Amino acid sequence: MQISDMLLTNPKARPRTKIVPKGVVIHWTANERSGANAVANRNFFNNPTTEASAHYIVDDAQIIRCLPEDEMGYHVGAKAYKPMALAKLSSYPNNCTIGIEMCVNADGHFPVMYQRTVELTASILKKYGWGVEQLWRHYDITGKICPAFFVEDDYARKYTGSKATEAWEKFQQDVHRLLTAYPQKPQGDVDKCEVQIALATHGFVINGVSYVPVRAIAEAVGGVVGWEPETQTVTVNGKVIACTNEKGISYAATRELASLLGLGVEWDGQRKLVILRKE
Ligand SMILES: [Zn+2]
Repeated sequence: MQISDMLLTNPKARPRTKIVPKGVVIHWTANERSGANAVANRNFFNNPTTEASAHYIVDDAQIIRCLPEDEMGYHVGAKAYKPMALAKLSSYPNNCTIGIEMCVNADGHFPVMYQRTVELTASILKKYGWGVEQLWRHYDITGKICPAFFVEDDYARKYTGSKATEAWEKFQQDVHRLLTAYPQKPQGDVDKCEVQIALATHGFVINGVSYVPVRAIAEAVGGVVGWEPETQTVTVNGKVIACTNEKGISYAATRELASLLGLGVEWDGQRKLVILRKE
């Protein structure tokens, strides 16, 4: 992978402030005109009146480096930032991120530019020992519609043929695949996660069926446990579940409880461990 150095000399775009990077931010140039390629965008950044920059600009012909990775650029400045960015990056994310601009010039070839960006991104993540969790869209940090083909469905369909969320997930997977050589799907932040609960009580196994404490597990994942005195039955999310009572604690078959809670069940025989996952 060849990178051409055309470091900026415009002090308004290159303040020469040292940074310690924590992540990579993906952008698009938002310039669909013919000729708006990497060199043209680099020269725009170097225009003495421009107060914007990024570390790399990628088109279908080359990758241009505008800033060293340990210097601050101006690519994600905003009046306000999203809570996740404030929590994981800083109160001013320009001071800890590497920006990559993807060119969408009409005379360029999007798939070639895309693949080049995947390779550049994977090489940066690899260098720092990061995974795709350290990968951000500009949108994730400030809410700006950037890169539009990973944020808005109309642009996503035009450039990638998919919906925006799928296109962004695919980009992350393409990077992940290069990074690890495994076609493993990156896990989302909240919708797919392993539920790990440290329980004060243990489950047990009878005739090959595992039983786990109902209340401890249900409440840990936001389920509602009820008791119907008339029928002397336990309910989970409003549905009756067969329970056995041991020393004042209700236990239910793991699979039955998991299905009422919308969890998947796996059995790790080696560690004698029941693993519940959000589906
Ligand atoms: Zn952007």
